[in-house]
Amino acid sequence: RTVYVNGDYLPETEARVSIFDRGFLMADGVYEVTSVLGGKLIDFPGHLARLQRSLDELSMKNPLSADDWLEVHRQLVARNDVDEGMVYLQVTRGNPGDRDFAFPPEDTPPTVVLFTQSKSGLADNPVARTGIKVISVPDIRWGRRDIKTVQLLYPSLAKMAAKKAHVDDAWFVEDGFVTEGTSNNVYIVKGGKIVTRNLSNDILHGITRAAVVRFAREAQMEVEERAFTIAEAQAADEAFFTSASAFVLPVVEVDGQAVGAGKPGPVATRLREIYLDEMRKAAV
Ligand code: PMP
Repeated sequence: RTVYVNGDYLPETEARVSIFDRGFLMADGVYEVTSVLGGKLIDFPGHLARLQRSLDELSMKNPLSADDWLEVHRQLVARNDVDEGMVYLQVTRGNPGDRDFAFPPEDTPPTVVLFTQSKSGLADNPVARTGIKVISVPDIRWGRRDIKTVQLLYPSLAKMAAKKAHVDDAWFVEDGFVTEGTSNNVYIVKGGKIVTRNLSNDILHGITRAAVVRFAREAQMEVEERAFTIAEAQAADEAFFTSASAFVLPVVEVDGQAVGAGKPGPVATRLREIYLDEMRKAAV
């Protein structure tokens, strides 16, 4: 595989980052994951806008222009012949040469790393026809979940707890309300109304969430942005989640309790179709 590190395209085996990199020592970095369908980037402007926001919130400069980000993404897709899959990008505060809690001088170059992963069955995903099962776990992450940092240890632990419980994912719960999934935003549907948690520092502002909420409203579906409980999810007609890498997928069981008929529901199924149709049209 060809990867990108700080301006160079290299075989992955030759790519190097310093052991003093603040991404490595302190998780001082941000990332984005852009899906590729038919060799094209899905919702690329959404990812660039959120990257800018994450960098701003951490007082980091954006190392590349929008055109350059697009060029690097396209180069990697082409060089690795990615038809379906994703491009991962990470920007860290770079290598100050020593370990120190204080930020390094402003002129310290950030570390920029991008790589691709090919994965078939993203669009035609059999899980869209079966749905996934989730358990709930306490949300003990930090208070700025709206920043897409590489600090993913707790979501990893939650994913492992889900695996151990023989289910697919975990939903985080804080003060009695669901925040989000380990790597996705979550929704329930009751009486035709879609409910998803309102945006705040408590959750990542999913770019798939933004698109799906817009498409739902355009299709005259009612969307209420507020927190909901696990009990409400278990009593819902259907549930689903969204993320840039999975798009829209149904959730059919929460903490051992079937949601609705225990099968993918019509709202999730329709929103997945609309999302894929519209986003393929807008792909770059
Ligand atoms: N919440 C969390 C915690 C995530 O990691 C992700 C995946 N990036 C999402 C939500 C979904 O965001 P997006 O639709 O932008 O991928």
